[in-house]
Amino acid sequence: MIDHLTSRSYLIKRKNVFRIATSASDVEDNIMVRVEAEGEFGVGNASPSDVTHETRGSIEAFLEQARGKIAGMDETNLSTLHDALESIASGNTSAKAAIDMAVYDLLGKREGKPLFGYLGGSGDGSALTDMTIGIEDEEETVRRATRHCREGFRALKLKVGLDLEGDVRRMSAVRDAIGPSVEMRVDANQGFTVEEALVFCEEMHALDVVLVEQPVAEDDYTGLKKVRERSPVPIMADECLRTVADAKRVAAEGAADIINIKLMKSGGVFPALAIDDIARDAGIITMVGCMGEIQQSIAAGLHFALGRDNVRFVDLDSHFSMIDDPSSGLEFKNGRLRVSGLPGLGMATDMDETGG
Ligand SMILES: [Mg+2]
Repeated sequence: MIDHLTSRSYLIKRKNVFRIATSASDVEDNIMVRVEAEGEFGVGNASPSDVTHETRGSIEAFLEQARGKIAGMDETNLSTLHDALESIASGNTSAKAAIDMAVYDLLGKREGKPLFGYLGGSGDGSALTDMTIGIEDEEETVRRATRHCREGFRALKLKVGLDLEGDVRRMSAVRDAIGPSVEMRVDANQGFTVEEALVFCEEMHALDVVLVEQPVAEDDYTGLKKVRERSPVPIMADECLRTVADAKRVAAEGAADIINIKLMKSGGVFPALAIDDIARDAGIITMVGCMGEIQQSIAAGLHFALGRDNVRFVDLDSHFSMIDDPSSGLEFKNGRLRVSGLPGLGMATDMDETGG
């Protein structure tokens, strides 16, 4: 039975301004949540963004309502728990995700299993992650790309979508600089029209880019499908897909080759499992991505990825850019991000000692 929910808000500084086709920021709000049940606890984290239409204030307000709502509920019944959260308000997915992952952390600890094992995954607890580079001029983009390769990254995700010709030149310069063995992924964050996207994808094919993410506007499923049908590079859906219902629509319309699952969009691990099932049944592989998150929720994303055979790409990198992360436990080596192996999320946080 759930006894307590407490939370603490953080304003985390980024090492650099992060600029994409739709926004730019040098700080990130993160709100950690601690759930206690039967003398045990778990910790989750919420990261608001424009994509989920949340703010620090909206998350704090949602958590305030959730506190009373979930007290006394059975922590082992995630379905009923999510129904209760949904009854407070729809949306608010990163607030819901924080509670969801705190409960999964607790359940994994109780079973004595790392969360990925609790979800049915095997393996060594690590996955190749890319490192994302925001929109910068050509010289700075190349400088960052080569630096990240020196740091050990073997995959890069590059942001484009403000200037088609400049983007092509920039991606070409990056490929020249990093050589053929580093994987390149590209995210347009809705920046192109269908016609521009098709020109762009041809150029990216020539540069051996493995996927192009959300090339067109989030509400343009028809456009996305058109690009998908004619692009030589696999197309990934991100902003256009948040919920289980969106996943069903993408699957039914054949609008994408790959789906980018983010726990902040789905509302946590439990709905993400359903989205990944829908994708798998439709022959669509998945990626696990992130927002501007500290390690705590990055760990939840990584455990989810490691627990699911259908997840083929991992884009869990925001924590590398955060200064003074209040959570720790992940390791990065040879391009791979690794969980600690301890039960649950396997993390240490500054919420571990507080009872609220
Ligand atoms: Mg994206």
